[in-house]
Amino acid sequence: MTGAEEHTDRDMADGLDRLWTPHRMTYISGEDRPEGGYERPSGCPFCLAPARPPEESLVVARGGHVFVVLNLYPYNPGHLLVCPYRHVADYTDLDGPETAELASFTQAAMRVIRKVSSAHGFNLGMNQGGVAGAGIAAHLHQHVVPRWGGDANFMPVIGRTKVLPQLLGDTRDLLARAWPS
Ligand SMILES: [Zn+2]
Repeated sequence: MTGAEEHTDRDMADGLDRLWTPHRMTYISGEDRPEGGYERPSGCPFCLAPARPPEESLVVARGGHVFVVLNLYPYNPGHLLVCPYRHVADYTDLDGPETAELASFTQAAMRVIRKVSSAHGFNLGMNQGGVAGAGIAAHLHQHVVPRWGGDANFMPVIGRTKVLPQLLGDTRDLLARAWPS
């Protein structure tokens, strides 16, 4: 078994090397997860999420035009997605109020994450189109990924543990309570 474990460790370490390439964000979002654990609902998960109970959908905050949901397969704890309710694909599809609220909720997400977890930095961004790495290319979503110094060292633990869904629920509750009302 030692040999197999070493092989797995090498594979995981190799994956870290490409963590911030665009296609990697597809896996981070759990959008094209090949096996196990994630039953993709029929239809668009970003359209379905707001209608589901918070403990199932991991929705952290709801605005008039956008909502914030915890990424099911986070790169780091607190990895959030800011999504319009409308099923639109491209950033240029957003109207004025949607654009404004997507921006203000991205700011709020950063403030809340800083407040509860003292993040050192963030990666923000949207993958536009499948060629750019968007797995669910049809529904726009902005990534808000908190970063801490040396955080990549924890990736093998965070990414592979089976207790992650429970931790996600705890993280959602923490962020939802800290979200400005
Ligand atoms: Zn959708």
